[in-house]
Amino acid sequence: ILKQIAFYGKGGIGKSTTVCNLAAALSKSGKKVIVVGCDPKHDCTSNLRSGEDIPTVLDVLREKGIDKLGIETIIRENLLKKEDIIYEGFNGIYCVEAGGPKPGYGCAGRGVIVVIDLLKKMNVFEDLDVDVVLYDVLGDVVCGGFAMPLRMGLADQIYVVTSSDYMALYAANNICSGISQFVKRGGSTLGGIIYNVRGSMDAFDIVSEFANQLNANIIGKVPNSPIINEAEIDGQTAIEYAPEEEISKIYMELAESIYQNNTGTMPNPLENAQIMQIGKMIKERIKKQKITE
Ligand code: ATP
Ligand code: MG
Repeated sequence: ILKQIAFYGKGGIGKSTTVCNLAAALSKSGKKVIVVGCDPKHDCTSNLRSGEDIPTVLDVLREKGIDKLGIETIIRENLLKKEDIIYEGFNGIYCVEAGGPKPGYGCAGRGVIVVIDLLKKMNVFEDLDVDVVLYDVLGDVVCGGFAMPLRMGLADQIYVVTSSDYMALYAANNICSGISQFVKRGGSTLGGIIYNVRGSMDAFDIVSEFANQLNANIIGKVPNSPIINEAEIDGQTAIEYAPEEEISKIYMELAESIYQNNTGTMPNPLENAQIMQIGKMIKERIKKQKITE
């Protein structure tokens, strides 16, 4: 059975790194994986393709001059082939980038709406025998386009990537607030939080306190690893670049936990006072670190 999973989180927090490594891990354990990049920056899949860009769905539609046609027409008249928008990456992983509007024109989330509709109507998941779909989603779930993967319960689960930085937790809380709104209307539930240690602070206990208040599970922790930074210079995941390293094993385990997880929670977003309390804890920790340095 097909499993669809969406990843959200603050800008720069490690969504694409996480998604590409999980895709690599799942493909290594024998699953057919497709990564759907839902970010106008269209760099979601670059570490699966040696850093090489692929044409985005919106660009392809524009170049073919069919961007003004309805998707039904495009399909009925056979104006688009799967190969036009789907490219193979590491270990046979399928890669798609939704893309965005021309700068200054239109809604940034439109690419997501178009790509989801196209993949479905072109029967991509069935025809290519896909086991797992991973959506790497930029941005605020409040926007219609970026909320697509979770709004109608399209994704089986949502994961939110965060570090222990205040702004990352703040953004995670906002995303969960969006999720909780949609859950009531049949949207996807929260599979959990992925704690990605970015930067100098590693405060699992604070993220754990945050997760408790949020009614969320922490599905796994990814340590800060220089292997990730080395690998990305070659446009690779840690799993491709250094399969024997500890970090690759951590991603293999995380991928398994996520693949096996069939439960989700209804997040209970923190009130302002609660999130400020978390902020206070972080501040104390930063001060303590400075003293010991
Ligand atoms: P954006 O919102 O811009 O798309 P993102 O959330 O997709 O960003 P990434 O591009 O995955 O974030 O990561 C940002 C940077 O952080 C990258 O250079 C990546 O190598 C680095 N990074 C992410 N996770 C880790 C980690 N666990 N250890 C070390 N570096 C990391
Ligand atoms: Mg990204």
